[in-house]
Order: sequence, then structure tokens, then C-alpha cells
Amino acid sequence: MEQTTALALIVLAGVGMLALLLILRRQRHEVEDDAKESPYAVSTEGIKICPKCGYGNLWSDSTCAVCGTHLKG
Ligand SMILES: [Zn+2]
Repeated sequence: MEQTTALALIVLAGVGMLALLLILRRQRHEVEDDAKESPYAVSTEGIKICPKCGYGNLWSDSTCAVCGTHLKG
């Protein structure tokens, strides 16, 4: 009985640590993704800012009117 309880505690601790590692790794990925983002905001008040040249296109445009870069969203 005592052995089973100890084993259960070890397993629980292992699962907890694994979950913590996964959470920390995911958070690190999110930070990296943010760092990769363009310095320009993707959209503001119905305007899509071109990630390449910074031109403010209409929200309905799928490509930049100036440089032809594909716009997100
Ligand atoms: Zn552009």
C-alpha cells in the first residue's frame, strides 16, 4: 500500500513537471513569434498596413496597392 502511494506521488510529480515544461516551452514560442512579427501593426481602424512598405491599404484589399505584397487577414 505504502509503495503504491509513493509510486503514485512520483508519477504525479512527473506529470506535473512535464506539464510545466510544456507550458514554459509554449510561452517561449509565443515570445519568439511576437519577436518575428513585423514592426507595423497588421490592421488599424479598417486599414491594413503593408508589412513590407508600411502603406495603409483598405481592409478589403488582399494585396498592397504599392508593392503588391500579400496582406494578412
Ligand atoms: Zn506594400
